[in-house]
Amino acid sequence: MAIDVDKNWQLLIDGEWVDPAAGTYDIVDPATTNVVGHAPEASVEQANDSAAAAKAALASWRRLSREERCAHIGRLGEEIAKRSPDWVDTVQAETGATIGTTENLQVGGPAVDRFRYYANPIDLDENLRPIPTAKGPLGPAGLMSAHVKRQPVGVVAAITPYNFPITNVAGKIAPALAAGCTTIIKPAPQDPLGIFLLGEAVLAAGLPPGVVNIVNGAGPAVPAALVDSRDVNMISFTGSSPVGAKIMENGGKTMKRLLMELGGKGAAVVTEDADIGQAAQAIATVWGFHSGQICTAPTRVIAHKDVYDQLVETLKTFSGFMKVGDPKERDTIIGPVITELHRNRVEEFIQTGKDAGATVVCGGERPELDGYYIAPTLLADCTPDMHVVQEEAFGPVIVVLPYEDDEQAIQLANDSEYGLYSYVFSGDSMRAFALAQQIESGSVGINVIQPHMEAPFGGFKMSGVGRDRGAYGIEAYSELQAINWLG
Ligand code: NAD
Repeated sequence: MAIDVDKNWQLLIDGEWVDPAAGTYDIVDPATTNVVGHAPEASVEQANDSAAAAKAALASWRRLSREERCAHIGRLGEEIAKRSPDWVDTVQAETGATIGTTENLQVGGPAVDRFRYYANPIDLDENLRPIPTAKGPLGPAGLMSAHVKRQPVGVVAAITPYNFPITNVAGKIAPALAAGCTTIIKPAPQDPLGIFLLGEAVLAAGLPPGVVNIVNGAGPAVPAALVDSRDVNMISFTGSSPVGAKIMENGGKTMKRLLMELGGKGAAVVTEDADIGQAAQAIATVWGFHSGQICTAPTRVIAHKDVYDQLVETLKTFSGFMKVGDPKERDTIIGPVITELHRNRVEEFIQTGKDAGATVVCGGERPELDGYYIAPTLLADCTPDMHVVQEEAFGPVIVVLPYEDDEQAIQLANDSEYGLYSYVFSGDSMRAFALAQQIESGSVGINVIQPHMEAPFGGFKMSGVGRDRGAYGIEAYSELQAINWLG
């Protein structure tokens, strides 16, 4: 559907579309640098209004039966599925994602899957084994029973990053609603338009007013107000580790419950008996995927010295097949990164690698294209202390380090502040399983890049706090309540 650049985008507060009190700002297509929309900017007062609306809606939403809430969630999933094809142009223009990524992963696809998954009631409540309890100062003897119930945390503010706007929001909102929470969405400032389209689906699905609210802002004032608000019980955040740390600090004052999904610098340990072609292909798949703007990418390759040269050569060969260019062309593998500012950051990142003595095997130069493009870049001869090895680029940049034995592979893999998603590529599954268990990382893939979508997802160390996905999503958005009785 053609983009209406002058569309009057509004905030969704308490079931109504509301004009933004703080004006608008431009959304730029990173592939063309053209303005593709004017995003609404909420005032702090409107952020507070959205929190008050979510709080007011909580009592009746949490009183619904699990099945009634699930029916709403299911309807919302189907509304998204129905509308997604019409969202492609807008979401591609604001994210810069390739057409394949936009159609399959930005709209519909995984977002619909999450709503469909949580449309099935998940009951984690349980009765504990009665235990004999002696007579004491607090009461008579008897068999003590307890029911352990998952109660909704309350009002959840979902603060999300720019890379997969709708998918990230769906991963938070669907389990939060299923657990009985009401929500406020604060999308990333760079690409919020698709989230307002999602708001249209929320209204069409007939969710009660205030159960899902959407506010937006170019700067930190709006999300910071949600973090400070006494009406908000939980912040579900996905984004960078420094912003996550700030939210933890500020949220402490009001004892916020926190789900923190933060940065990553995934290790990919490649053993000498690995299928090097398969390992390189897996690594290369994520290298270029969404221009490297993916937190689970294996960007820190740790290769056994006997296969190091072969792996570097194979990765270089794969880079030759990654067409950088217009994301609308179906054979493009790498589109632009999100903004000029981010392109400059990634270029500076690569420069620090060169300055520190890394060898640029491929990439490293700005492609001669309009828009914010970066060629797939491979930095070899890296040492563990280098900035490019320690920090995330969030761009199509991979570093490679050699290792001598399994002990050193583990030591290098764990020599990172991050611990989100790592990988082991090996021809020996028992060895790979043993290595995986020693890596300090929330998830480890063995010879595979795709995750199990019901497995817990989250980070060790600076990569975050808490887990979601599958039934773990219900745990994330609920509090345990113990109801005790005698008899
Ligand atoms: P970011 O941290 O800059 O912004 C994320 C969100 O935080 C935005 O909505 C922003 O408006 C908001 N924000 C900014 N300042 C704030 C403040 N003071 N208080 C509250 N909220 C504030 O991240 P980004 O650049 O949008 O995304 C890239 C980062 O996200 C990378 O570090 C990447 O690794 C991470 N990420 C992690 C996951 C995961 O699942 N672990 C997934 C995707 C992205």
